[in-house]
Amino acid sequence: MSERLSPLPMTTIVTTDLIGVTRGRSFPTDELDAYQVAGCGWVPANSALTPQDIIASSNPWGAYGDLRLVPDLSSRVTVNNGPDADAPALDFIHGDIRETDGRPWGACPRTLLRNEVERYRDELGLQINAAFEHEFNLDSGAAEHLAFSLEAQRQGAGFGGWLLSALRAGGVEPEMFLPEYGKHQYEITCRPALGVAAADRAVNVREITREIARQMGLGLSFAPKTAEHAVCNGVHLHVSLQDMAGQPVMYDADTANGLSTLGQHWAAGVLHYLPALCAFTAPTPISYERLQPHHWSASYACLGQRNREAALRICPTVSLGGKSVAMQYNLEFRAMDATASPHLAMAALLIAGRLGIEQRLALNAITDEIPDSLNEEQRQARGIVALPASLSRALDCLRNSEALIEALPSALLDTYFALKTEELTLTEQLSPADLCEHYARLY
Ligand code: GLU
Ligand code: MG
Repeated sequence: MSERLSPLPMTTIVTTDLIGVTRGRSFPTDELDAYQVAGCGWVPANSALTPQDIIASSNPWGAYGDLRLVPDLSSRVTVNNGPDADAPALDFIHGDIRETDGRPWGACPRTLLRNEVERYRDELGLQINAAFEHEFNLDSGAAEHLAFSLEAQRQGAGFGGWLLSALRAGGVEPEMFLPEYGKHQYEITCRPALGVAAADRAVNVREITREIARQMGLGLSFAPKTAEHAVCNGVHLHVSLQDMAGQPVMYDADTANGLSTLGQHWAAGVLHYLPALCAFTAPTPISYERLQPHHWSASYACLGQRNREAALRICPTVSLGGKSVAMQYNLEFRAMDATASPHLAMAALLIAGRLGIEQRLALNAITDEIPDSLNEEQRQARGIVALPASLSRALDCLRNSEALIEALPSALLDTYFALKTEELTLTEQLSPADLCEHYARLY
């Protein structure tokens, strides 16, 4: 008599692609050894998928080519159980896309980020400590949601408790689960990680959050705007540059706002390239419904101290508790949302900051006012420019940014422009309300 069957545990090698969707292939966990070195198969045109699940017709790959998805074993995430006792374990490993002979593949966003992190190390002697904060809408079924209230916290508490537990099990080091300003809006924050692990961690937060919602049968969306009058969901990326011994280098107590000379060049680079960077950090038509004045997101390229309307914010430090100011000091990039690929967006941001350091760019675009309340003359005097008002404008800014185009692999750029152009065509007929509804389902 044959033995009774039970489901085999599976492990998945994943890549989070240019549009921030995590995809991959699974195999029986007890066969992991066989996939460690050469990974599993992958297809170039997969990277040209639009969020609408249609492969962009003008992509460089078509029906040709074969790749490998090679696991980075140090990035494995395993969450054995959750609120649904019958749900299979969540077990995945981030991978890099390679040619079949092992050479890195030009359009892999994780490879791009790793290369940039290595440049910081080799050319600047720096490492990057970073954390992504995520806001999202959770349909807890409750009729009301009072902003920041204990009641809203309690409405989400069953979900939040499982989420924190699963994030911990997955090695994510969660910090806080909190009710936000919007209806049914929550936020999850986690501790920073170094280099590529920071972007992997952002993916882990998104996927584990989705997994818990799926197991509990709750609707969830990270999309930047889920309904026409909804408060927006942002992704904020906190960055602290450190020397290779882990000492922070962005803080200097002797400057007016605490930003060191190196930090100023870095911030100036980010702000200088920001209109073009938006093509990666705010990469969908719906992103531009969020990048508006008075949304606490960002609509101008400027830095502000504790200013939530600034694209780059110098975060508060606290003297309570006696922790060193330098260790707390960090810059928060706010012109990002969860339709962005964490690896691609972080890599592009780092490239812009590095260019700022290399070109010794001066930081003038500073204001602690709401940038929208300044008049055009005041903004011009400080070099504060408006961010693009649409994805197509952001893509034009990217096309016209010689330095960024030169810094990015052409295979990645060609694929990206093809898929974003297709996405614009696929969504051009949608009204603002329909656009919200459409992307709320996709992200
Ligand atoms: N919801 C805002 C955004 O879209 C951020 C609010 C906050 O500062 O937490 O980015
Ligand atoms: Mg928030």
